[in-house]
Amino acid sequence: MKPSLFDSHMHTPLCGHAQGELSDYADEACRKGLDGIIFTCHTPLPDGMSAEVRMKAEELPEYVDRVAQCRAEFKGRCDVRLGLEVDFVPGYESALEKIIESQPFDYIIGSVHPHLPEIRDAFWKEDPIAYGKTYFDLQARAAETGLFDTIAHPDVLKIVRWADYDKALMKEEFARFLDRVAETGVCLECNTSGLIRKVQEIHPAPDLLPMIAERGIPVVIGSDAHDPLRVGDGFREGVEALAEAGFKELLVFTERQSQSVPLDSWKALVADWSYCLQNEAPASLHGG
Ligand code: ZN
Ligand code: FE
Ligand code: FE
Ligand code: ZN
Repeated sequence: MKPSLFDSHMHTPLCGHAQGELSDYADEACRKGLDGIIFTCHTPLPDGMSAEVRMKAEELPEYVDRVAQCRAEFKGRCDVRLGLEVDFVPGYESALEKIIESQPFDYIIGSVHPHLPEIRDAFWKEDPIAYGKTYFDLQARAAETGLFDTIAHPDVLKIVRWADYDKALMKEEFARFLDRVAETGVCLECNTSGLIRKVQEIHPAPDLLPMIAERGIPVVIGSDAHDPLRVGDGFREGVEALAEAGFKELLVFTERQSQSVPLDSWKALVADWSYCLQNEAPASLHGG
């Protein structure tokens, strides 16, 4: 069977902070030679929580329709799949489960977004170390719900609290988080969007990847594109870092079932790609 080289994390304009039509994302995937993409836009949440950065509950069917239309349009060229990025919020588990079960999703990402005002207000106690511990604990709890296939960008805390991010201490918290994730069988994401942030590194940071490999926790790669040009962006950096950390395969999900893809297939695809957008002049984006 042919390897399935997918970008498994990207957004749509329905969340209010992403641009481009869905077909633009699929076009970019075709241009880069990816086999498929999974739209994983931000789930609606109960009680109007952070409503300005996500689709409304009543827009979920429209989201599903738009992905289905894009899938039909690109049939035979790009395997377009339906996913969802679901914020883990303690107390919302059953509401989230209902949303996840309401549509035929291929893939569900669980996320903790420590910059959301509601999360900050609930957990920030004027102590960055305590907040870090809480953040990694929440991510472990997310994995333990069994609701999600993958935990997204598992050190995204660093982009919101970079000034007081204690890398050494957080590495210890990351290890504790990994020990709990390893018990669940849930995957972690190699999310390349950190490359275009101030931290200029993938999530999780390259030095954390061997800790994941050691524990046998599987990894899924995604760009977290909020712009079509970012589909697959940073995958060369991501794949190189994963190879260096000792990974031999990545997983991809369709119909909530995982498939293994040899890292060698990824290496072959990205070998002549440009490095991520931030470090490239726009003229070179579509070269090579
Ligand atoms: Zn977003
Ligand atoms: Fe996210
Ligand atoms: Fe995302
Ligand atoms: Zn994200």
